[in-house]
Amino acid sequence: MTRTVAASDYQVVIGLEVHAQLLTLTKIFCGCSTGFGGAPNSHVCPICLGLPGVLPALNARVVELAVKTGLALGCAIQPVSVFSRKNYFYPDLPKGYQISQYELPICLGGGLAITVDGREKFIRLTRIHMEEDAGKNLHDVAADGSSGVDLNRAGVPLLEIVSEPDLRSADEAVEYLKALRAILLALGVNDGNLEEGSFRCDANVSVMRKGATQYGTRAELKNMNSFRYLKQAVEYEVRRQVALVETGQPVVQETRLYDPARGETRSMRSKEEAHDYRYFPEPDLPPVRVGEALVARMRAEQPELPRARAARYQGSLGLSAQDAGVLVGDGGLADFFDAALSARGGGAEAAKKVANWLIGELSRLANETGLPPRAWKLTPARLAEVLGLLDAGTVNGAGAKLLVEELFRHGGDPAELVRRRGLAQVSDEGAIEAAVDAVLAASPAEVERHRSGKKDLTGFFVGQVMKALKGKGNPGVVNALLKKKLGGG
Ligand SMILES: [Zn+2]
Repeated sequence: MTRTVAASDYQVVIGLEVHAQLLTLTKIFCGCSTGFGGAPNSHVCPICLGLPGVLPALNARVVELAVKTGLALGCAIQPVSVFSRKNYFYPDLPKGYQISQYELPICLGGGLAITVDGREKFIRLTRIHMEEDAGKNLHDVAADGSSGVDLNRAGVPLLEIVSEPDLRSADEAVEYLKALRAILLALGVNDGNLEEGSFRCDANVSVMRKGATQYGTRAELKNMNSFRYLKQAVEYEVRRQVALVETGQPVVQETRLYDPARGETRSMRSKEEAHDYRYFPEPDLPPVRVGEALVARMRAEQPELPRARAARYQGSLGLSAQDAGVLVGDGGLADFFDAALSARGGGAEAAKKVANWLIGELSRLANETGLPPRAWKLTPARLAEVLGLLDAGTVNGAGAKLLVEELFRHGGDPAELVRRRGLAQVSDEGAIEAAVDAVLAASPAEVERHRSGKKDLTGFFVGQVMKALKGKGNPGVVNALLKKKLGGG
């Protein structure tokens, strides 16, 4: 008897480990710059090069940002935590060990809520710990084909944020990663850049038959530097593991690399080759002590977090869940929204208008140029002024759009631009009537078809009149006059 192989017979179990680079100016144990993109080995010193006889000194800002993050994620901040040496050899790790935290990390527990298919779910965290990043191997950089090592990244501070295996699908994993990223961005502790690797994730994936009580053997997936790749890698891995189980083959515990070009994961190293890291407490650093004063200070610095903000937008401002989600979902739009709304004043009606401009025209321009809100030449106060000109009838919708694009690209004073570019709306009935008459006189065939009821050509006439008025006609007046002249309705 053959069994139908169906992925729906299986429960997918996923836990994520996220590495987030902390936005400090200097590295975790020395004074070198954390700046991205410097010439290879230009941000290094004897400490981060791992030369003999040097001593690391912990950057206090790293502890502050770890505590800030832990508080936002509801973790228990540990009064005492300990750095450990994780020993392994690799060319990008000059010391032969990485300083990390092992048995006693700075944060335990906590978690965050995600929403998938309209259902809210809480994903628990296991822990958050502080550690240093390794360097980077560069291949094919020299004329002779040899490889090099860039140690600018060695010693850059990271938080490793480990979730419990609470995620049950690739979609949940992606939502979790997005929600976590949004929180770190709101806190200002990380830049959320997956491409540059300052926010990266590994996924532990296993499958078990539905109703089973024991987790299956898991594989660890690496190299997923976008949300799309995470989804693809997990989905591929689930298919692979289900096929193995269905054919009676064992799933091997191993590390697998995702290959985006082929859309598959492949084995990198198996458990047997896995490192024995021989962790032991770092003898050169004292235990990290977090006092109540530091916790209180970081608590006072907590910003409004994305979910709370989205709830406020939906509740007191009446925005849709989708609009609220877009505004809080990525760095900066929500801050711009709050500032523009506060400059414009007003309640739900103004909020909806500001949100529409941000989600529509401004997001389009931002995508086109790759510029985040803080880099726009248009300020929140200027957007509020444009909305004021629109509401006062000084410009029509098309004029406001031109204005916003001009301000986005070059900045300036909206009212002055209206004058200089001649964008003022034409509401004068005489001028509009003349344009309507000219259009109707020039299109007798269309007028005939429209009047005979064969076809509704209102849109065509509006377009022609607007064109004659260089896009600046008051749409209300244009429509009213057309209706009157064409009769009907
Ligand atoms: Zn250094």
